[in-house]
Amino acid sequence: MAHDRMLQFVDRTQAYPDKRAPDLRAEDFREIADRYGVPAAEEQAGRCSQCGVPYCSVHCPLHNHIPDWLRLTAEGRLREAYELSNSTSTMPEICGRICPQDRLCEGNCVIEFSGHGAVTIGSVEKFITDKAWDEGWVEPVAVGPARGQSVAVIGAGPAGLSAAEYLRGNGYEVHVYDRHDRAGGLLTYGIPGFKLEKPVVMRRVDRLKAAGIVFHEGFEVGRDATLDDLRRRHDAVLVATGVYRARPIEVGGGELPGVVAALDYLTASNRKGFGDAVPAYDDGSLCATGKDVVVIGGGDTAMDCVRTAIRQGARSVKCLYRRDRANMPGSKREVANAEEEGAEFMWLSAPAAFEGGDTVAHVRLRRMRLGAPDASGRRAPEPDPSGDETVAADLVIKALGFDAEELPRLFGAPDLGVSRWGTVLVDGRTLMTSLDGVFAAGDIVRGASLVVWAIRDGRDVATAMHKWLKAKAKAEKVAA
Ligand SMILES: Cc1cc2nc3c(=O)[nH]c(=O)nc-3n(C[C@H](O)[C@H](O)[C@H](O)COP(=O)(O)OP(=O)(O)OC[C@H]3O[C@@H](n4cnc5c(N)ncnc54)[C@H](O)[C@@H]3O)c2cc1C
Ligand code: SF4
Repeated sequence: MAHDRMLQFVDRTQAYPDKRAPDLRAEDFREIADRYGVPAAEEQAGRCSQCGVPYCSVHCPLHNHIPDWLRLTAEGRLREAYELSNSTSTMPEICGRICPQDRLCEGNCVIEFSGHGAVTIGSVEKFITDKAWDEGWVEPVAVGPARGQSVAVIGAGPAGLSAAEYLRGNGYEVHVYDRHDRAGGLLTYGIPGFKLEKPVVMRRVDRLKAAGIVFHEGFEVGRDATLDDLRRRHDAVLVATGVYRARPIEVGGGELPGVVAALDYLTASNRKGFGDAVPAYDDGSLCATGKDVVVIGGGDTAMDCVRTAIRQGARSVKCLYRRDRANMPGSKREVANAEEEGAEFMWLSAPAAFEGGDTVAHVRLRRMRLGAPDASGRRAPEPDPSGDETVAADLVIKALGFDAEELPRLFGAPDLGVSRWGTVLVDGRTLMTSLDGVFAAGDIVRGASLVVWAIRDGRDVATAMHKWLKAKAKAEKVAA
């Protein structure tokens, strides 16, 4: 690469003299960064063209001010970059790690469109926020003057935690109820530690505890209290319980030992990572070490199972998906990662039966082909007459996705309005459910989605609840 172009790059990275798109390629920047020791985050941030229409921000569910904090990063003003990124997100370092950026911010970067590879926005976001934690720039939650009103949040996943943080900031007493023994929802027990290190989640939870948010862990609404009990105890209630009903596979042999649900498998692995005693992991029922593993499904949960099994030292890992590569729902990047790590994908394959003796020993699979498009416009898979095949399996992990549990029944609240998929219905403007003072957010409203959307929903619902609670306090004052 020409020397003057190198200097031009170094100049831009350090001083950011103009805001035009550099015409260098991603590999050029990497070469320069290595050669001159320019920090990778600042180098990447310096590639942002500051284009007039920030498509990246538009496609980020939080509408983060991406070009602005990239510019600050490129200028070496890391604390300001962190503060700006933190102003729209309660968990920027978590999103930086696990957002499917190829479908959101980075997938809409104009430099990507021009064929030069997107600015790696997520890794810059992770870097500046991790740096902020290391440097002590992350401030305690600024708690507003006490309002004398309290709020119950059911579910300590990203939606519940984000709402709790904003509501506490507005001076409410906040109680978070979760059936697990640790907060974090799927951040803690679903997403594997190699994608999201657990101390990163726990330090966020600890910050909320330090702000006076009261966590009731091991508290299951439906078992330990009804929804009405919580409505009586608090001025408002937020339902942020996520979706946990695993979609079934209707084939024979599903009851054989060795055929397990994805979330049981991932939770055991995550608990082990925390150092918990996990008998089902230790006795091998939820552990892949030395086994022939077959994962069924084509979404991100399936990819997490595949990659966890590889890390646990499985003898072989196969992933069965009934459509082809182009039609799978999971992130292409995750598939590429899994393949690179040694997983074998069996496209156009569906399980026909799980077979074995005392435990599962094989999966009989049916070859599929893509037929005419279904109602959703996707080509529906149908059995291929070429016949069945058998693959060895001593651990089968079912990862077909999740639906909502039956909340009206579980919560003893038959009047809680839900859709035909079981997701909780909310008014689009007030975000309130069919029950007065009961709001809902996150996956339980959208169906299985993404962490960044849960954070966005938590932010929005906190604003809506604040408005409603202020009106309630005013009405009570007038009545008194
Ligand atoms: C294996 C897996 C991997 C994923 N990977 C990614 C990823 O890489 N990137 C990404 O963006 N998204 C990912 N997702 C999706 C993401 O985790 C969810 O969209 C997000 O966590 C939803 O947040 P939430 O707060 O709505 O619900 P959750 O995170 O599910 O939290 C809900 C909480 O409610 C609690 N709860 C439920 N019922 C009750 C009750 N009756 N009483 C008390 N507490 C209750 C649960 O214990 C849980 O803690 C993944 C999902 C899975 C399953
Ligand atoms: S929150 Fe997610 S989509 Fe938004 S900038 Fe960060 S990584 Fe991109």
